[in-house]
Amino acid sequence: MKTISPRPATPQFDSHAMIELHGIVKRFSNAAGVFTVLKGVDLTINRGEFVSIVGKSGSGKSTLLNMVTGIDHPTEGQVVVNGSDIYTGITESQRSNWRGKNLGIVFQFFQLLPMLTLLENVMLPMDYVNLYDFDERPKRAMELLTLVGLEKFANKLPMLVSTGQQQLAAIARAMACDPPLLVADEPTGNLDTRSADTIIQLFEGFVAQGKTVVMVTHDPSLTSRTHRNIIISDGEIINEAVSKCLPQLRHRHMLQFTKIAEDRIYQPGETIIARDQPVDYFFMIRKGGVEVILLDKENQEYIVSSLGKGEFFGDVELLNGGKAIANVRASGNAPVEVVAIPRADFMNVINQSPITAEAIGKIVQKRLDDHRIADHRSVRAN
Ligand code: ADP
Ligand code: MG
Repeated sequence: MKTISPRPATPQFDSHAMIELHGIVKRFSNAAGVFTVLKGVDLTINRGEFVSIVGKSGSGKSTLLNMVTGIDHPTEGQVVVNGSDIYTGITESQRSNWRGKNLGIVFQFFQLLPMLTLLENVMLPMDYVNLYDFDERPKRAMELLTLVGLEKFANKLPMLVSTGQQQLAAIARAMACDPPLLVADEPTGNLDTRSADTIIQLFEGFVAQGKTVVMVTHDPSLTSRTHRNIIISDGEIINEAVSKCLPQLRHRHMLQFTKIAEDRIYQPGETIIARDQPVDYFFMIRKGGVEVILLDKENQEYIVSSLGKGEFFGDVELLNGGKAIANVRASGNAPVEVVAIPRADFMNVINQSPITAEAIGKIVQKRLDDHRIADHRSVRAN
């Protein structure tokens, strides 16, 4: 077997990145016509990140993973994994060899070979890419089965162990060649919660060793255990500031905000909203922090609250008549990155989304109360 590796990507690529997707479009053609599943996806996942990907059934999650693993190929765009452009200038068999050495793949339905024991299943990838000495392979496979708690079942056929144990064996197999990247497509989708928990703990262990883990999941309770959650809606990636700030929004509304969101950067100390001035945007913080500032009776400034990544502002003004009740200013030593949504678009989505309206309404009420308390305090201080 040839062992030519994919061509290294040109140096413009980010060395911190494990996965870079640039303008990925995927179309399928069938009798009914052409169907675009991925509509220009840009995404970077860094080394050592534990990332979950969620989205409705049919939104393109598996198709997206298949672009990263090289199982399928994009119609347009570029995929760089572990520093290599995996589609330019290499053959299918070279890609397959590269895949065996660089990534582990876990599927929802395990896909163990039924005629082989668990130990033989785990040895298979080492045989395939001819990694590790022939005599060393059984020992290494046994260590991996021990890691996932299956040492006693090493010589059993897959059908003789539970589904949870089959998935654990599939994870041991995925790690056989010690890849830096593990990609899992709904690995817990077919398992009870206890088995699911064991699997997430294993993934956390890999991440603690510096590996990168990307997991598609249906289970919202698992997304809280990853560093970062990516939502895909109808073949497009949701702006992560939008999904973090407004998790109650429906995915289609998140996507609507993603498309109209304006990125803005403010320098430390810069005013974003000025008191008594009209506010025309809803702001979500992507990076850095802001301070909400009021003036006391003697025109001394004081900070009512500090907001950071995943929080928003402008809501009080947009929902209560339009004029700013406080100054909002970029804080800290680094620039603040925000995503801004024009007032009309914001109001439109709020009107269509009662859950979001209620959630934001509660925050608005609390902020108004805080301001009142703060005003009261400043009066008493005088
Ligand atoms: P998800 O994993 O989010 O449920 P998929 O990525 O499997 O979604 O599929 C996204 C869409 O692409 C679906 O509508 C599916 O029918 C379509 N699709 C996936 N693979 C193919 C294919 N090989 N040929 C035609 N359509 C496909
Ligand atoms: Mg899928």
